Formats: sequence, C-alpha cells, structure tokens
Amino acid sequence: MSDNAALIGGFVIIRYTVAMQDDIDKVLFGTDRIATRVAELGREIMDAYGERADSITIVPIMTGAMIFAADLIRQLPARLKINLMTVSSYPGASIRTQGSKILEQQLGDVHGRHVLLIDDILDSGGTLKLVIPTLKKLGAADVHTCVLLRKDRETAREVEVDFVGFDIPDEFVIGYGLDYDNLYRNLPSICTLKKEVYAPEAAVTP
Ligand code: 5GP
Ligand code: MG
Repeated sequence: MSDNAALIGGFVIIRYTVAMQDDIDKVLFGTDRIATRVAELGREIMDAYGERADSITIVPIMTGAMIFAADLIRQLPARLKINLMTVSSYPGASIRTQGSKILEQQLGDVHGRHVLLIDDILDSGGTLKLVIPTLKKLGAADVHTCVLLRKDRETAREVEVDFVGFDIPDEFVIGYGLDYDNLYRNLPSICTLKKEVYAPEAAVTP
C-alpha cells in the first residue's frame, strides 16, 4: 500500500486528513465495486433506450448526484444532452429529509426529450416525486429515473425507479457525492459515518 492509502474494513482508500479519516465508520462500497456497477448500469440503460438513446437528456440532481452522473455519462455512448437541477432535502447538518425544495433549474429545452433523472440515493422519494412532474410539465417525451443507492425503507420501495445501482440498509451514508453538512463528497467510496459525528450526545450516552 502506498503512503497515501489506508485500509478501512478491508478496503484500500486514499488517506485523507486525519479529521476526515477518523469520521468514517465503515466502507459499504469501495471504488472497484462502484466502477463495476456503474459500467453495468450504463449497459442496462443503453439496452433499455436502444435507438432512442440519442435523444436522452440527462438531468443529474445536484449536488449529490454530481460524481455518480459524471461517471455514468461516460458509460453512455450516445449523443445525449445534460441539464441540471438543484434540489435540497437534507440542508446543513441533517440526516433525515426536511422536505425537498427545487433551488435552481437549468433545464433548457427538454420538450420531446427522453429525460433520464439521475440521483444519488432514494430515501423518502420526496425528491423524485417533486422533480418528475416538473419535467413532464415542460414537455419531456418521457421521464425515467436512475439512482445509485436505494434505502431499505418502505417509502423508498413504494417509489418506482427504472435503474438502481445498489440496495442498502436504512443508514445515513456519505462519499461519492453524498454529503453530511456539505462535507465528505470527495471520498471515493460510499461509507457510513461514526455516530459521534452526527449525534455527539447519543454517542456518549451509554
Ligand atoms: P428523498 O427525497 O428520496 O428522501 O432523498 C433524496 C435525497 O436526500 C438525496 O438526493 C440526498 O441528497 C438526500 N439523502 C437521502 N438519504 C441520504 C443519506 O443517507 N446520505 C446523504 N448524504 N444524503 C441522503
Ligand atoms: Mg440530493
């Protein structure tokens, strides 16, 4: 292992500043596993769209989907367009949704386009339920959805999504674009946080 790498739960990850390194509880998915699944998702999406792939407009939901979308679009060999939407649901130091709100839209002309929404994680489903009708109102030919992670919660299972990277337990996760208080997005693996980071009082109570 090189000097700037560390081993956490059997995964090699880049060594970060001690402050960030120490906050990680466990690694759920390392970089290889993510890359393999993202490549598979790319093939699933290309197969599903077939000839229509050249009329796809990708809409990553910012900021969490930024890294996933950047990797996924490079696995989609189609003449696609990209537009952005910024939605906030876990503002600041929240670990449960505070209700989804569209903060910004740079959607351009999605009229007649096959829109593929990309989000990092499906939790309460509030984000997709908010965003899908907005895109339909703008005249998208159809709107499909791709999430990297889906939590094992009834609210998440009730929402229909077309492409899912991984099903995960109902835990708060960070890394690969996902944040806590706008931190940890640059971790290349998907991890859980130590409880004392987001609930310091709970962690010291026996
Ligand atoms: P939903 O609207 O389905 O409740 O949640 C979707 C959004 O909430 C995601 O795009 C993400 O921004 C945020 N979110 C939900 N669960 C988590 C989580 O475990 N970790 C982080 N960092 N964000 C989450
Ligand atoms: Mg989000």
